Amino acid sequence: MKKTTSDFFIRTECPVCLSSHIKQVKKGNIPYYDFDPDQIKITDKEYGKIWDLSQCEDCTHVFANPCPSPDYIQSLYSQIKDPSYEEEAEGREKNFLPILWNLIEILSGKGEIFDVGAATGIFLNLARKYGWTPAGVETSNWAVDTAAEKYHLRINKGAFESVELKKNHYQVVTMIDFIEHIPHPQKAVHKARRILRQDGVLCLVTPNQKSLAAKISGSKWWHFRPAHIHYFNKSSLQTLLKDSGFQIKKIRNYCWTFSAHYLISRFESLSFLLKNHFLSSFFKKIPIKLALGDSIEIYAQKKE
Ligand SMILES: [Zn+2]
Repeated sequence: MKKTTSDFFIRTECPVCLSSHIKQVKKGNIPYYDFDPDQIKITDKEYGKIWDLSQCEDCTHVFANPCPSPDYIQSLYSQIKDPSYEEEAEGREKNFLPILWNLIEILSGKGEIFDVGAATGIFLNLARKYGWTPAGVETSNWAVDTAAEKYHLRINKGAFESVELKKNHYQVVTMIDFIEHIPHPQKAVHKARRILRQDGVLCLVTPNQKSLAAKISGSKWWHFRPAHIHYFNKSSLQTLLKDSGFQIKKIRNYCWTFSAHYLISRFESLSFLLKNHFLSSFFKKIPIKLALGDSIEIYAQKKE
């Protein structure tokens, strides 16, 4: 895909708190004019790749600047196909289950749940199994079709920002690994507020740029990927939510579960282990919980 300068825009203010006190903190290593869209798949291996990054001197938020435009992001994500994401369905379900427990605890019940960036519907399928009424939106055409075929879920195709939805309707909106991928996080959070009913809850999961894992791995941090255009920390994420009319109810460190097969496949030097059919299926059956706590899981309630 040929890129033009209109595929990127320069920010003069912080996308979270709108302060104009921003400064460049890192020079990126992704070519703006020769970017391969395959690098933004959920399961990509492009660790340590970053855009030019700026930081807000007021709320400490870190973000890509120049930033890919909403239209460019939309066109990239609509074409994404990522079968290896679906292969990890079991592990991903394990990751998602605690979210449902926390939501039930905060809301004292269940209801209609709207998942933003629903991917192939693994989370919504799980929510439905536990008594929630599922709805969602997803940009990748392949993922929406997979959700329909595999789970009989009807997920809206397109960008959350532009799809028409009922106002003051949902008990829950979830954004799991979504907000760091879009140019205007504030717009998305405002929209989540509009579609939530009073006292409804927004659950958001996103990498924590100030986590121990991020500090230890430095420039090789696995969340430094072309797909990520925002790097939040607990403070900047709370600023975003409070300024948008939410009250913070709970903050946790998010843990991931993957199969040994998936983790090995992330490292080129270990790929020989998976060439053996017996070993390969053996590794697929071993779940590994990564208690890295390198993402923030936050619950915020809609208030007047
Ligand atoms: Zn800011």
